[in-house]
Amino acid sequence: MKREKTRQTTIGNVFIGGQNKVLIQSMCKHKTSDINSVINEINECAKMGADLMRVAVLDEQDALAIKTIVQQSDIPLIADIHFDGRLAIAAMANGVQKIRLNPGNIKDENTIKAVVEAAKKHGVAIRVGANSGSINDEVDILPISLAEKLVLSAQKQIKILEKYNFFEIVVSLKASGIKETIAAYRLASELFPYPLHLGITEAGPKDISLVRSAAGLAPLLLEGIGDTIRISMTGNARDEVLAAKRLLHDCGLFDNYPTLISCPTCGRTQVDVHQLATKIFAYLEERSIPLAVAVMGCVVNGPGEGKSADLGIAGGKGQYVIFKKGQLIKKVSEADAYDTMIKEIESMR
Ligand code: SF4
Repeated sequence: MKREKTRQTTIGNVFIGGQNKVLIQSMCKHKTSDINSVINEINECAKMGADLMRVAVLDEQDALAIKTIVQQSDIPLIADIHFDGRLAIAAMANGVQKIRLNPGNIKDENTIKAVVEAAKKHGVAIRVGANSGSINDEVDILPISLAEKLVLSAQKQIKILEKYNFFEIVVSLKASGIKETIAAYRLASELFPYPLHLGITEAGPKDISLVRSAAGLAPLLLEGIGDTIRISMTGNARDEVLAAKRLLHDCGLFDNYPTLISCPTCGRTQVDVHQLATKIFAYLEERSIPLAVAVMGCVVNGPGEGKSADLGIAGGKGQYVIFKKGQLIKKVSEADAYDTMIKEIESMR
């Protein structure tokens, strides 16, 4: 897929922007000074496919905790700091590889300069961003759309950094509304050379966030916009990472991943399609097996509808037929269906 070319920068040992892969990130839900919990959360997410993790830095204890966390983290760490330049400088001195901070929130010019100098000294990237909940007051009163306000707010932040010859920038523009978010990122993609961090803010609990985030981010990803994504959820970070992987895979931006095709079931179904599909996908996903597998409810339509899959199974009365590329290869009882499919999957790896 053709992707918008942005300026490449580094976050620790990871490249962002340019034509590099779209990075997956999430944010720790524990207080950062709860060091062991945070390290466990980061490394669990890394195992599941996160490329970056962010932690909130609210006080000096959190900034100090960064030192230990960075040493034991399997992936680069981002510190989220809002108003306090001193905490940003402390987090960078303690080894954090990127900070998320809006320089416009720091009123003192000398502090901004000190933050930028520290970022240069430590080779730290800065994400600046506009959020619909915290748009700059001067911008908020302008008679322009929310998307334009978000972009203008971000531009003001970017200019502050550029004034100090700082260009290791990542930009985000988050609204909780899908239309505004899409419009803002399209505009930003035309205006800014910097990598874009995509996300729908305050996206809700898992079920709601999945729909809202996919609806908001997929159009952008399919247009080649976006260098890193976070699927925000009122829930755990592991689910955010899993959702990001699945979304990127469905957009053709994440290889080495399974594709599950399963029918919605109907009155013709006489087997437990849901259970079998769920178990097979869990097996494939845990092992990142890049096969397309179809689990269908009936032999009438199943093999035809699932013929694009590498391997498929379609139910009858208490039994299944297994097919490859739409061609029937064997019949199995419902009780043997899962084990037989796993053997077939393993033979195709
Ligand atoms: S594949 Fe068969 S069981 Fe599944 S929805 Fe289609 S017709 Fe119904």
